[in-house]
Amino acid sequence: MSEPHNFNPTILREYDIRGVVDDTLSQDDAYAVGRAFGTCIVESGGDHVALGYDGRLTSPRLAEAVADGLMDCGIQVKRVNMGPTPMLSFAIRHLDTGSGIMVTGSHNPADYNGFKMTLAGKPFFGDAITRLGSIAAAANYATGEGSIEDIDVREDYVSVLAQEHQPMRMARVAWDSGNGAAGEILNMLCTRMPGHHHIINGIVDGTFPGHHPDPTVAENLVELQAHIAEHDCELGIAFDGDGDRIGVVDGKGRIMWADQLMMLFAEDVLRDDPGATIIADVKSSQVLFDEISRLGGIATMWKTGHSLIKSKMTETGSPLAGEMSGHIFFADRYFGFDDGLYAAVRLLSLLERQNVTLAELRDRIPEVENTPELRFPCSEERKFPVIAEVATRLDAAGADVTVIDGVRVNTEDGWWLLRASNTQDVLVARCEAWDVGGLARLKEALAAQLSESGIAAPENL
Ligand SMILES: [Zn+2]
Repeated sequence: MSEPHNFNPTILREYDIRGVVDDTLSQDDAYAVGRAFGTCIVESGGDHVALGYDGRLTSPRLAEAVADGLMDCGIQVKRVNMGPTPMLSFAIRHLDTGSGIMVTGSHNPADYNGFKMTLAGKPFFGDAITRLGSIAAAANYATGEGSIEDIDVREDYVSVLAQEHQPMRMARVAWDSGNGAAGEILNMLCTRMPGHHHIINGIVDGTFPGHHPDPTVAENLVELQAHIAEHDCELGIAFDGDGDRIGVVDGKGRIMWADQLMMLFAEDVLRDDPGATIIADVKSSQVLFDEISRLGGIATMWKTGHSLIKSKMTETGSPLAGEMSGHIFFADRYFGFDDGLYAAVRLLSLLERQNVTLAELRDRIPEVENTPELRFPCSEERKFPVIAEVATRLDAAGADVTVIDGVRVNTEDGWWLLRASNTQDVLVARCEAWDVGGLARLKEALAAQLSESGIAAPENL
């Protein structure tokens, strides 16, 4: 099958390939992804690839088609089978394949699926994904006779995760893998870690019967909060559908957002690596950046998007980075990729070492007034121009503006952010102030800017 193949243009996205199975994403698409990505591997001088898939019902058959495409390029496929995305990232290093492809719909509804790729040790995104589409459209494929081998890396992966755990007391922990792909590894990990582990939704089930596997949405943490209260747990930890993102709740039922977790991780990392660069995305609280500076680190604000964050880490030699979406990257004693399970073990270990509960640490974080991430529709044609217009007006008014990704405006009250999503036709906003009055003023300023550009402010602003 070497005919030209055209993808539905909506599935080729900034950071991955993703669509609705048997609607915008077919078996033939999966073969073409494998064949075009295999061609990229051959061009890069490689001949091996690690292949994994998540727990979605459609994942095994899509992975089969991807493997066929890769083999027809002459690639040796090391198939690690079902597991979380970070297990595939681990396999790329452990099996020294350099490249990898994961069949996953991440945190999306059950009918979605897609592909995340790594080429020769680097994230594969943006123009590389566009080019993958062109290779398929021209059938400009490499040709060869590859092979496939099943390799079970689960024990090795769990051993690396477990060795980070340094227990001194018997913590009671509630876990919720949301029936996602991390469930099996989580069960294996918990048997290796002393303490009391209560796992809910731990069975991998691609229909997601418990709740939607996205721990950045508060309603998806309600079941975990109830479980913490019922079993008197010290904390609760949740993962998204493919296990690369983490969500955390303290023993009092309070959600610890990723920027709050990053304050704890920053302190932990800076203890061993004083003066290190710590990276967080533009949606993160000012409290985090201030805390990193106070601890002697170099606080670095960067663009949202896990591939962009990873690249910035490499460029700056940073040992720790995080995004509000729950992607947390450790490169001090780990590989520098986002792994929800590894972040969980690090969190447990730092609590053990400091001999505190998560709730005690949460109480030390300064209280601020902020909005969650507000997302509202804006057309493809308007979303970037709106940001440029707002930046121009603020600049003319002499405002203190950071334009790393969208506009982030600092005032005496705090800050507000307006940015265009790279992956959807939406604008994203967030405001954070020291007090309620300040928050109201920030919201007003943001609404005024939106109105001047002819955009209706979201209802919850
Ligand atoms: Zn994910």
